[in-house]
Amino acid sequence: MLSAATGSVLMAAIYPPAIVGRELSYAIALGGFGAGTVFFVGTLLFDTLVARRGFCRYLCPGGALYSLLGRYRLLRIRRIVENCNDCAKCNAVCEFGLDPLRDHFGQECNNCTACIAVCPTQAMTFVLRPTDFPEQGPGHLGKQYRRTHPDQGAH
Ligand code: SF4
Ligand code: SF4
Repeated sequence: MLSAATGSVLMAAIYPPAIVGRELSYAIALGGFGAGTVFFVGTLLFDTLVARRGFCRYLCPGGALYSLLGRYRLLRIRRIVENCNDCAKCNAVCEFGLDPLRDHFGQECNNCTACIAVCPTQAMTFVLRPTDFPEQGPGHLGKQYRRTHPDQGAH
């Protein structure tokens, strides 16, 4: 709607990969950078100083499209709660700041497999499913679960 109102392709104006391509062609053809470079640096500063990946998550049109695709993806990550020891390595490695430790993947998860790779107990796996599993609680190999389930001490 904004594009129609302004008569310009706004997505290309604020989509970082498009900006980088355009600015590189300016640099090669014209020997200098345009205003897109200032905007691009601004997005980097915003993501670094204001909100981690804030531009990607809340403002980038490409991010919005990927989130939409992510929302309806059929292949998802699932935490096998019986194998999880609550070490939180999966949360630490997630570039999107998601909470796989508590089954919060959501539409931002892009199935990058970083949490699968880092998990020391093979508690992350892929499943074919149109929605995320509901939160399953503490991992059964973790202290919190063992405290509340002393009968499961055999783990
Ligand atoms: S697959 Fe990647 S994006 Fe999704 S929760 Fe795991 S680390 Fe995060
Ligand atoms: S899923 Fe794996 S990496 Fe994540 S908390 Fe559980 S054991 Fe640790």
